[in-house]
Amino acid sequence: MSVPFLDLTRQHGPIRPEIDSALARVLDSGQFLLGPEAQALEQELAARCGVPHAVAVASGTDAILLALLAMDVGPGDEAITTPFTFMATGGSIARTGAKVVFADIDPATFNLDPAAAEAAVTGRTRAIVPVDLYGQCAAWERFEAIASARGIRLVEDACQAIGASRHGRPAGSFGDAAAFSFYPTKNLGGMGDGGLLTTRSAEIAARVRRLRTHGDAGGYDHREIGMNSRLDAFQAAILRVKAARADAWNAERRKIAARYTELLGQVFRSAGTEAAVRPSAPPGSGTVHVYHQYVVRSARRDDLMAHLRKAGIGCTVYYPIPLHLQPCFEALGCRKGDFPESERAAAEVLALPIYPGLTASEQEEVVAAIASFHGVKV
Ligand SMILES: *Cc1c(COP(=O)(O)O)cnc(C)c1O
Repeated sequence: MSVPFLDLTRQHGPIRPEIDSALARVLDSGQFLLGPEAQALEQELAARCGVPHAVAVASGTDAILLALLAMDVGPGDEAITTPFTFMATGGSIARTGAKVVFADIDPATFNLDPAAAEAAVTGRTRAIVPVDLYGQCAAWERFEAIASARGIRLVEDACQAIGASRHGRPAGSFGDAAAFSFYPTKNLGGMGDGGLLTTRSAEIAARVRRLRTHGDAGGYDHREIGMNSRLDAFQAAILRVKAARADAWNAERRKIAARYTELLGQVFRSAGTEAAVRPSAPPGSGTVHVYHQYVVRSARRDDLMAHLRKAGIGCTVYYPIPLHLQPCFEALGCRKGDFPESERAAAEVLALPIYPGLTASEQEEVVAAIASFHGVKV
């Protein structure tokens, strides 16, 4: 038997009739971009995040870019982020013309380390872009203190974290604006590309609404140059169906994660010190993790991955190359060794199967394969 790394058909099977009727509704409406479906999605997700405004856009990448543009981040400015993230975080900063400044992660959470970010602040720093990596909120109260003391803007890359929270505050409510992605594999995924910006600021929301349609203030009145970043109405309709399940799906992910943590704990205790490390929330951090990924770390990661794949267990690495070592950021002049925790994470992390519909026996198979790698029995 094999265990796929991800199987979206298990999620979509039970809601197929609702998806079909949502798609038919859009087809019959003749409105294929934004429109009432996107508006309803914006309202539903703003309410879920506890903020007054949400703006639907074409992708999570665009949501980050538009947030920065709406805050006038651009050439001559610096924006600080983590090198241990998906390319879109650093790429969107660079796209504004601002300089990307990296700061290392906290190895316990894989998220941007507030002290490292603070040390990277200069007179040119206009924004900090922490990422809620793998579905766990960053140390937001620390970033808020750093930013508000210096008039720095905060953008939350919440692309992996819909439904997560920290001290009762939901992902999407931190910073001046937040970005969500509806890429199909995300915790709330469409059947194509899509994204959303959430914000407490009426000004940022209004500006992003203009920027997503070429800066049109209404009636072909273009006060500034924007872009084309509209959410597809079919995606909006699908996402509304799926959003109603998001809490239940996240609860299922958390249950699967708790089971991995328990079973792997037994494996690693028997295997001794060389064993991998499981994800954790630091005590007192108050985070509700939604496990977009369940990530273990191992000093023998590549061997572990090969062993699991040979046993038919889907597993993968997010992310194998930290951004500061990517060829596209060569001009920044970073070197190997500049961000040791990010580099160590890139060498050690391995994501295991976690998704709604993953069965208990499949999970046991994953754990058994990890146990056999460590030479122990479960
Ligand atoms: C998925 C993702 C993005 C980009 O979202 P797209 O919708 O694919 O553009 C940005 N940041 C992080 C951390 C992501 O996981």
